[in-house]
Amino acid sequence: MAVKLIACDLDGTLLGADHITVSPGNVRALSQAHERGIKLAVATGRTLSVIYGVIEQLPFLDYVIYSNGAAVCDLHSAKTVYAQYMPAETARDIFSFLLSYPVYFEFYQNGSQHTQKGREKYFKGMDLPAEFLEAYAASTASEDDIMPFAQKGVEKINLFCFDYNEPYYKEIRDYLFSHPGVDCTSPVAGDIEMTAKGVDKSGALGGLCASLGIESGEVMAFGDADNDIGMLQYAGYGAAMENAAGIVKRSARYVTLSNERDGVAAFVEKYALGKKPRLIVSACLLGENCKYNGSNNKNPAVLALQKDFDIVAVCPETFGGLKSPREPSEIRGGRVYSKSGADVTAQFVSGAEKTLYIAEECGARLAVLKERSPSCGCGEIYDGSFTGALTEGNGVAAEMLLKCGIRIFGESSVAELLDETEI
Ligand code: SF4
Repeated sequence: MAVKLIACDLDGTLLGADHITVSPGNVRALSQAHERGIKLAVATGRTLSVIYGVIEQLPFLDYVIYSNGAAVCDLHSAKTVYAQYMPAETARDIFSFLLSYPVYFEFYQNGSQHTQKGREKYFKGMDLPAEFLEAYAASTASEDDIMPFAQKGVEKINLFCFDYNEPYYKEIRDYLFSHPGVDCTSPVAGDIEMTAKGVDKSGALGGLCASLGIESGEVMAFGDADNDIGMLQYAGYGAAMENAAGIVKRSARYVTLSNERDGVAAFVEKYALGKKPRLIVSACLLGENCKYNGSNNKNPAVLALQKDFDIVAVCPETFGGLKSPREPSEIRGGRVYSKSGADVTAQFVSGAEKTLYIAEECGARLAVLKERSPSCGCGEIYDGSFTGALTEGNGVAAEMLLKCGIRIFGESSVAELLDETEI
């Protein structure tokens, strides 16, 4: 079935390790999906006020499913189109219970974050980037008395118990997980997220789809944590990230690449856009006579990759203005010299920059490059003595591609490339 809606979890899924950035590859793939008329949603445990930075990076986004599915916002009308809040009695119960323990907790209401004044001292910091934690703290309102807020529709309560090895954490956990008014998830130890009974991302996604006339088989969803499992099982194309917990991967129909390797983009391109992934390849491996001696390094295993990839041929040395045939060159002391001693570093750097520009423009995340070359070699190159001796290091273009997050494989590692990119 054709995909009509894509829903992505944020942390560990669409965002990078900084919990802030959507990679250019993910932005590009989602933008192309949107241009084809596919609706886009993010589905997050966070509330609205802490994801505006993400929304700015995805200006074409249609919906936000927030607070683990307690509400859905239509970003075009800025209206809440679905809401399932916690009953006041339940919220009061949980607030009173948690206030009797030395723990930090917060609740979400009307898209913003609140906590009881004085609870901040229990927030001991997490293993998260400082920039993210600062923004998080700044977006949390400290209230003199949270009890009146229980009346007004609580989306979600979040407990962070940093002393989760203390015996009282078990008491808290047992109480919350058996409370008849809430559903709990625990993405990481010490973190318990509570929504009203029956509320989760899959319910909100289902509600949104019903309002749009979209069937579950036409939905693509991505996630990495236990609060994503329902959504992954609901969607016809439910894909767990490679970095997801084992139970999440076992629950999903598909597993895609990790968040750090643009798993969302790779899956969207393959299953929603019907595109093969782009692959940068050293032109000489494809049979182009661009090698220093006027010949090529044609490699049948590399040529066979055309079945699975959309190949973009590059020859950094040709891009840098060097002709074929030409003198061989090698790297010595951080510069590139021809065999007769001419310094050709500028040509190599210029060719590498053009190669990187092409890779970024075409959205390639992978490259197969000629091993040992002063431009394309990766991990091992000739040592500058023109004797055939090797040393550790990368060619100029390979180094530039690697620094920009493009994964490099030598021609002898084609099988490894196929294994690692299988989704
Ligand atoms: Fe092959 Fe790279 Fe050398 Fe060009 S620069 S001939 S692609 S190894």
